[in-house]
Amino acid sequence: MRRGAGIVALIWGINILVLAALLGAVVFYINQQPAQAAFPAPVATQPAQAIFTSEPTLRPLPTVPQLAATPVDRAPATSTPLALTSGRRATIIGLSVSGRPLEVYTFGQGEKKRMIVAGIHGGYEWNTIALADELITHLDGHPDIIPSDVTIYILRNLNPDGEARGHTREGRANGRNVDLNRNFPINWQVDWPRDGCWKDPITGGDSPGSEPETQALMRFIETHPIDALISYHSAALGVFPGGTPWDDDSKRLAQALSDVSNYPYPPVDTGCLYTGTLADFGVAMGAASVDMELSNHRDTDFEINLRVLGVFLNWQR
Ligand SMILES: [Zn+2]
Repeated sequence: MRRGAGIVALIWGINILVLAALLGAVVFYINQQPAQAAFPAPVATQPAQAIFTSEPTLRPLPTVPQLAATPVDRAPATSTPLALTSGRRATIIGLSVSGRPLEVYTFGQGEKKRMIVAGIHGGYEWNTIALADELITHLDGHPDIIPSDVTIYILRNLNPDGEARGHTREGRANGRNVDLNRNFPINWQVDWPRDGCWKDPITGGDSPGSEPETQALMRFIETHPIDALISYHSAALGVFPGGTPWDDDSKRLAQALSDVSNYPYPPVDTGCLYTGTLADFGVAMGAASVDMELSNHRDTDFEINLRVLGVFLNWQR
């Protein structure tokens, strides 16, 4: 009997331990339930952490190409902001080969977007840059001349490296000896017959759109859909519509601008083959586009181009 009583006591002991363990498990489970219901956060924190670790604001801006050589803070006086009465400042849409800023001034808030580009041939055509600055200053002081349905962008100098090199023939190319008006990716050629053309050694670039100045303007036009474009040159050949063959809307625009200026349309045909031009790119992007030449390499023809600006702002496609 003593041995039997010991076994019973052992079994009871085990039973009590098992019951106590079960009771503990039940109490633990009951306590856990409201805790999980009240704090669902652990599930949600994981995707939140994943978002924060990507740090999207630290990515480089896609519209600003990598700096090639000279830092922006060493840019010459030509990049000094214009002293405009309104205090308006330019938007920098990219940098030249040598790191000089490419500046766009914006006027108006309408849905029709128009653009004027100056200085594509740099120093040799420096008077187009001077004209752009005069037009910017005029628009800043007379915003009332801009129709309410129009926005106009003025890129005052697409080739600041060429301009910095000198107001001479040597100032035509960019910092890599590329003619920017032959670097756009429409009808592009690295070289072309020189009959009737500029004879100096200069190229269309290593590939279509190879130059940072070209890329910056292409990105701007791709993200700001313009319906009309003037690319200013000098000198004396007239108004060239974009497109091959010439685009109909661009021909109408060329005629309208010629009507209020003394710039000939059709333009003087020297027999030169034009490749990779900004005007052809503008047409390919849906804009009526013209290359327009000032009278000489000295004057801005401001009064003439004020009339041109009035027609351009009010032109109907
Ligand atoms: Zn030119």
